[in-house]
Amino acid sequence: TSKQRLLVVANRLPVSAVRHGEDSWQLEMSVGGLVTALLGVKEFDTRWIGWAGVNVPDEIGQKALAKALDEKLMQRCIPVFLDEEVVHQYYNGYCNNILWPLFHYIGLPQEDRLATTRSFQSQFDAYKKANQLFADVVNEHYEEGDVVWCHDYHLMFLPKCLKERNSKMKVGWFLHTPFPSSEIHRMLPSRLELLRSVLAADLVGFHTYDYARHFVSACTRILGLEGTPEGVEDQGKLTRIAAFPVGIDSERFIKALELPEVQDHMKVLKQRFAGRKVMLGVDRLDMIKGIPQKILAFEKFLEENPNWCNKVVLLQIAVPTRTDVPEYQKLTSQVHEIVGRINGRFGSLTAVPIHHLDRSLDFHELCALYAVTDVALVTSLRDGMNLVSYEYVACQESKKGVLILSEFAGAAQSLGAGAILVNPWNVTEVASSIGYALNMPADEREKRHHHNFKHVISHTAQEWAATFVSELNVTIVEAQLRT
Ligand code: UDP
Repeated sequence: TSKQRLLVVANRLPVSAVRHGEDSWQLEMSVGGLVTALLGVKEFDTRWIGWAGVNVPDEIGQKALAKALDEKLMQRCIPVFLDEEVVHQYYNGYCNNILWPLFHYIGLPQEDRLATTRSFQSQFDAYKKANQLFADVVNEHYEEGDVVWCHDYHLMFLPKCLKERNSKMKVGWFLHTPFPSSEIHRMLPSRLELLRSVLAADLVGFHTYDYARHFVSACTRILGLEGTPEGVEDQGKLTRIAAFPVGIDSERFIKALELPEVQDHMKVLKQRFAGRKVMLGVDRLDMIKGIPQKILAFEKFLEENPNWCNKVVLLQIAVPTRTDVPEYQKLTSQVHEIVGRINGRFGSLTAVPIHHLDRSLDFHELCALYAVTDVALVTSLRDGMNLVSYEYVACQESKKGVLILSEFAGAAQSLGAGAILVNPWNVTEVASSIGYALNMPADEREKRHHHNFKHVISHTAQEWAATFVSELNVTIVEAQLRT
């Protein structure tokens, strides 16, 4: 028997595409979390549908790209083409400027309220239009019995577009960010439409139980529907709502530590920082990550513990993101200013307390850093899950370093037992946690690490994906039994 087909629909295809001429494309598969998760799920025949991240205005280029994707990639990738104006309004505008900050409790954009209110409607229209374009491509490739799995806040309108056309399609939707309290969601001018379109799916998934509960209360309070233990009911139709915490491909990290190039990186790092304890931060440079709060807490720790000043260093990897957005540019210079001030204040002729890098690392460098550092510091103000904390734990089997983790990251629900949980807004608390982590006796470190390591290796990304899809299949069988 042939495998069930799984159509994964996400804003971005897991490839980078570079055009080399009228009809020639160079493609590279990017290995993000979602890709490894789904590559690991062998029981499905998986196809990807998404935007390739490039503007391809001409038909020759579009056909060539579709063909190149189809031929070159074993996992078949099917492109959705969005023109520049739609990308601007839908992706930069509605997704990244409205939904992202709102879902992370930053609120709606406030400068020039009237302009915002006016552009809001056109951005939402572009969002719907873009979602319809995704739906068109799904419909074109859909075969009876396929499972369609829609991903993230970019595609909240997609379940409805799909179901309107074919009510028998098996549709799941998963949110990778937090879903905020209904009091926050109510601020959205398009609050009703978005909830209704997500509810068109058969199964709706979130990282944590709290996000799922927030979504159900948004539906009961804002739409006036009935919440049940299984989900949300609307005139006899049930939408299943549940928590599916994502994991990582822990094997990939554990195995990488044995590679000679990773071992070489580790050796260099150990020499470089010999005699000092090393604390690590790895974040996209996004306001949700609480990077200024983290650095200020580190400053407070140094202030209160002068004996530690030349014995500890904070390595902060700040991966550039959305660099054309003014708020992100402002954040970058704010962080640089604080780092400069602290290094000026606590540095010596030969050493500075903070190493701040505005760039990404390759996988091997990252693994080496995870493995050799003594403490990881995650201070997200809100974070859907935070995979960095999982990856750190996976790489710490020999060192048994300490994880300081924000209670506002989804990961706090799963790694809370072994981590030191902190409120990132409480600089005093974070500073004292840094001291506690640096001084923690080996037996306590070992116990805490063991707790989290067990969790990380037994709740993998592959298992997450398999669970979601099988739950979706079960949901549909149950719905058929009910009618
Ligand atoms: N990461 C990376 N290169 C880097 C730093 C980080 O590829 O230089 C990866 C990291 O391994 C992790 C992801 O970026 O898988 C960050 O995921 P997380 O859930 O922590 O935060 P997000 O960026 O999705 O908000």
